[in-house]
Amino acid sequence: MIKALQLRINLHQEGKPNGLLLKAAYDLGIEPSEISGIKILRKSIDARKRNIMFNYKVEVYINEPVPENSDYQFDYKDVSKAKPIHIIGFGPAGMYAALRCIELGFKPIVLERGKNVQDRRRDLKAINQDHFVNEDSNYCFGEGGAGTYSDGKLYTRSLKRGDVRRIFENLVFHGATDQILVDAHPHIGTNKLPKVVQNIRETILKFGGEVHFESRVSDFTLKDHKIVAIQLQNGNELDVEKVILATGHSARDIFYLLNDKHIQLKAKSFAMGVRVEHPQDIIDGIQYHCKGEKRDELLPAAAYSLVQQVNNRGVYSFCMCPGGFIVPAATANGEVVVNGMSPSRRNNTFANSGIVVEINADNDLYKYEPFGELKGLEYQKDLERLAFTSGGRRQSAPGQRLTDFVEGKLSPNLNETSYQPGLKSAPMHSLLPKLIGSSLRKGFKAFGEKMHGYYTEEANVIGVESRTSSPVNIPRTETLAHPEISNLYPCGEGGGYAGGIISAAMDGERCAEAATSNL
Ligand code: FAD
Repeated sequence: MIKALQLRINLHQEGKPNGLLLKAAYDLGIEPSEISGIKILRKSIDARKRNIMFNYKVEVYINEPVPENSDYQFDYKDVSKAKPIHIIGFGPAGMYAALRCIELGFKPIVLERGKNVQDRRRDLKAINQDHFVNEDSNYCFGEGGAGTYSDGKLYTRSLKRGDVRRIFENLVFHGATDQILVDAHPHIGTNKLPKVVQNIRETILKFGGEVHFESRVSDFTLKDHKIVAIQLQNGNELDVEKVILATGHSARDIFYLLNDKHIQLKAKSFAMGVRVEHPQDIIDGIQYHCKGEKRDELLPAAAYSLVQQVNNRGVYSFCMCPGGFIVPAATANGEVVVNGMSPSRRNNTFANSGIVVEINADNDLYKYEPFGELKGLEYQKDLERLAFTSGGRRQSAPGQRLTDFVEGKLSPNLNETSYQPGLKSAPMHSLLPKLIGSSLRKGFKAFGEKMHGYYTEEANVIGVESRTSSPVNIPRTETLAHPEISNLYPCGEGGGYAGGIISAAMDGERCAEAATSNL
């Protein structure tokens, strides 16, 4: 017999090897020996009260064997001689578009400007240590896209749970832990992601697809409202029939290229701000009600999610990384951009999060109107240049103690940081545009009231968090093709159709289905 059950156990029971089983037996009124096994379907932590509880949704197998975790199978076909689909960009959107093409019997030919995951590491080291940004290989560009050296948080607000499950199963199929199928807040971690990404590439190659690194698309030829050929920076030219454009929100050269060719684009609202970094112990103390003590070893590094309306404008936490690192995510020299990542065990001593302010493309960017639909992009660029100059004209970033930022004082010194290129004390309260700076200052005060201990001089604010989402939308019709170019499928975060790894992957699948539907 199989019984579905919701179980709630405390820290003490969680710590016992058979705590869950004993609780299931007790709730079902049976002997523990009658239970042959328990399959966990969902796990979450409820830390709202001092008595922290673990919530489980399980299937209890009574006097019958527990089935193996299903061995996920995807129907990949040999596509070596099939019709090609060209995919530009090998981030989550491009990778999942390629996998879906193979399932549908088409040959993906992927063109990626960056390097494979191993070679990419050297370029990340150069940013951190030598302050040199390779403009084709960095934290945003290269195999796996911006998702590879990230936190690998797999949350999405998408309501299409079936599709989400498929994406997760495919990650497990390619080597991610099956814990992601169970956790309420799943994440993979930057140390595990490269292997998953590499396995995805190997599947694509094994079934006859192609993946070309160091192949930046620099131009294309249009004829009769179609792209007929694409040119690469290495001089190669490829004839194409269908093109999925999955170049992400940092591929500014692609936005300029489309704009120069008078291909319709649309300015999009987005968000920008700073990253705030606290000692993880402070966040644990607040969230787990254990101020001044270490969190229980059964508990993961605590996360938080904050939002506040300031003068009808949203100020909110974004991409919070417990036990993580702040990383330099610029894609060009002369700019400083910060973002966050964490390893699978989230065992670093810092907690960081983007704290960003909504920027409305229609109302907030009037000074940038001359840039037309690229006004948000230019605003973003200006802020990143400002961070570069105020951070010391290197990849070191401008920083300020949180309390000094809010009170409008330069910090004489800064707290320790996980940001490897280092920090330079800067008056960010006066440097940031008022729209962002004053909203953030009010937002931080309000956050301090929601989470007592959050507003502290032991935290740094670090600038700038500018690449939260695309400032440009590449329009598409209900067929998912661009309204003016019938064989171009804008895809993923760059087009404005995704906001994270999972939604980008889902959009990649959708675009592959659309691009292959009439071939
Ligand atoms: P991208 O991942 O940006 O991929 C685009 C690809 O296109 C890149 O590989 C790029 O090199 C390539 N490309 C660009 N231009 C060209 C060209 N001209 N020719 C050929 N190739 C080109 N999201 C989450 O959901 N969870 C997280 O924990 C998380 N953490 C993050 C941490 C960091 C440090 C960063 C930078 C991002 C993080 N994100 C996270 C965001 C997430 O990575 C993106 O939402 C996601 O990767 C978008 O996928 P994409 O495929 O649309 O674009």
